Formats: sequence, structure tokens, C-alpha cells
Amino acid sequence: MLPTLFAPTPVPREPGPDRTDGAAAVLRTVLDRGPLARTAIVSETRLSAAAVSRHAADLLAMGLVWQPPDPGQQPRPGRPRIPLDIDTSHHVAAGVHIAVPRLTFSLTDLRGRVIASEHMPRAEHPGTVLDEVAVQVPRFLRRHANGFSVLGLGLVTGGWVDPEKGVLVENTALGWRDVPFRRALRQAVRLPVHVEGHARALARAELLFGTVGDGVLLHLFVGNAVDAAIATGGTLLRGRRHGAGGIAHLAVPGSTQPCPCGRTGCLQATVADRTIAAHAVADGIIAQPDLPLLLQAARTGDARALDLCRTRLRMVARAVRPVLDVIQPDVVVLTEAVTLHLPHLLPELSRELTGAADMVRAGSFGTDTLAVAAAVPVLASVYRDPLGLRTAGAAG
Ligand SMILES: [Zn+2]
Repeated sequence: MLPTLFAPTPVPREPGPDRTDGAAAVLRTVLDRGPLARTAIVSETRLSAAAVSRHAADLLAMGLVWQPPDPGQQPRPGRPRIPLDIDTSHHVAAGVHIAVPRLTFSLTDLRGRVIASEHMPRAEHPGTVLDEVAVQVPRFLRRHANGFSVLGLGLVTGGWVDPEKGVLVENTALGWRDVPFRRALRQAVRLPVHVEGHARALARAELLFGTVGDGVLLHLFVGNAVDAAIATGGTLLRGRRHGAGGIAHLAVPGSTQPCPCGRTGCLQATVADRTIAAHAVADGIIAQPDLPLLLQAARTGDARALDLCRTRLRMVARAVRPVLDVIQPDVVVLTEAVTLHLPHLLPELSRELTGAADMVRAGSFGTDTLAVAAAVPVLASVYRDPLGLRTAGAAG
């Protein structure tokens, strides 16, 4: 059986400002706390019992929630207190993540759990990459999405991305500018295409599926691209043309690394995966400029490799500290390869950055990070406006 693809919409829904309506509030409450009885949803959302019943019926009909059997509940007279939970058996979100070395194709359920992911090497030119994505997405879905309805395609990359226009404004790590992601793909993949920046997608994933709470969140991504995302009260800071969070060209004190922007000592140019890997080759630590090789050497006790990893984290801390002074986040989440593979270095970075060893935590998604990031713009749109799926043809 072929995967169910939604009918193409002439103009896919633009992601607007985060808004909460009743159905969204019910769905988010079930996501955060489910399985949950309707009475508990009423007290959580402060909606009326009638409104919760109505929204629950809509969400049930759309296959977004279901009523799991409660083994602890004995049959009893009167109205049973049947709980609601997120239904992960019908809908899935697809995504493509574009990084410097490769593309990641992914499929997640409504709880952001990865069902399938595949990688392929990335071509140089953006047009070639988007042509390949257009060809490969339907094949990927045929391999992995059988029997599911696919809610949309997320397209995520580092740098400055305008989700409203569906355009990559600039990704200096790729050397790409003004690439019309959504326009290039929406006809070819016959799905709503949701475009987002990598750091912001991961911050959304932490807000939806992690445990970061509603305070001020700073999410830092350090890879070949270096980006930040800031959220407060569960809402991401957008900035002009969705440009908030651009930290790639913050100055690293003492760095003389040339940057494509024309200056020297910029954060991204100084600490990028490929810069660090090139240093490791120049220092004779590894033979090929490949960050996983350096991490492997550090893990197996090579003191110079470990030292280079520590140096990277120290440079990140020194460049980013003024940002923390300004926004005073409640929690800092770091998605970065060194601390993923050498978690004992995270408290060191945290101390350097904030003065406290437990202030910075690792991202929630481990080795699934890119796969989750790719699909999360689709999931975010579902949780922001679940009833909007009906106008996109999803309720079927
Ligand atoms: Zn620069």
C-alpha cells in the first residue's frame, strides 16, 4: 500500500505567529501530560467541560488523539473517565535536514520520535540539492511511510531562514543565499512544505517534546553552522525577517581565523566542525579532516585531541557569554558534537559560560537530533493549529 499523501493545496498554510485556540490547548495538554482524563484537561486548560468535549471529539475524529484502554480502571456504573492520549498510529511528519556534509531524510510520529531516517551526501549547488530532494522524498516515503498519512515536509538547515516566506536567506557554512526552498519543492513533493532554521527547529522540539519549561530558553547549536534560538513563555523570538539568533559572527577573543564575511575571529569560522577537524589534522592528531575521528581519539584517551575539544568549548563560551549577560536565560540547551560524545565536558562548558556547572544541558535528542529537527516544523504547525489540518486536506 502506498503512503497516503494529502491532496496538494494551492497555497500551503504559512506558519504564522504562535497562537493558541481551544483545540490547540487541548492537544498540547494531552501531549505534555497524557494520557489524561477530560476532567483533568478541563482544569489544566481552564476551558469549559463542553468546549473540551467538543475539541476532544474533533481531535479524535482527525486521528490526532485516541482513547487508550486504562488497565487500572474497573468497569463501573456511570460515565467512564476515559483518558485521552496522542495517537501516534495515523499521522507522521517527514523532514529533510541539509547540513554541510550530508542530507538527512526523516519520518517522525506525533511525539517527535524518529520512525525512519536515511542519509545521503550533499551536492554543492542548491538547485541540484533541491532537485535531488524532490526526487528522493517520494522514494523515502514509499520505503517508510506505508499506511501512515504524511502531514507535511519540513526542510531545515542552519543559518538565517525565513519560515514565512519559505526562503533560506543565508547559510554561510553552505555558501548559500536567497534560496526559495518552499517554492522549489511544494509542487514536486505534493505536501505542505514547512521551512525553518536549524537552531529554531531544535528549540521548538525542546519546547514540544523536551523538559525545558516556559522560562527563557537559549538554544545553542554548534556544528558547521553556529546559531542560537531564544524562546520566552514557549514562544520563539523571531526578530526582523526571522533573523533573531544569528551568532555566527560574534567575535571570539584572540581568534585570527578568517571568515567568509571578510573579518577575522568570527565564532562560526573559528569553532566550526571542519575548522576544528582541520586543526586536528595540522597538529597531527588525526589523518583526515573529520570531526568524528577527533572525537574518537579524544574518547580513547588522546590528550591532544581532548585538549582541542576543550579549546573549542572554551571559545564558544567566551564568544557567547555576553549574550547570556543580556538575556539571562533560565535554561541553556546546547546541541554540539563534543559534549554529545564526551558528556563529562558539559559541566566545564557550563561553568565557563554561566558560572554554574548545571546551567547548560545537552539537547534532548542525542544522535536523532538532525532527524527530529527536520520534521519538527511540521509537528509545530500541527500543535499550533490542529484544526488547520482539515483545511489542508488532512482530516480525510
Ligand atoms: Zn564573520
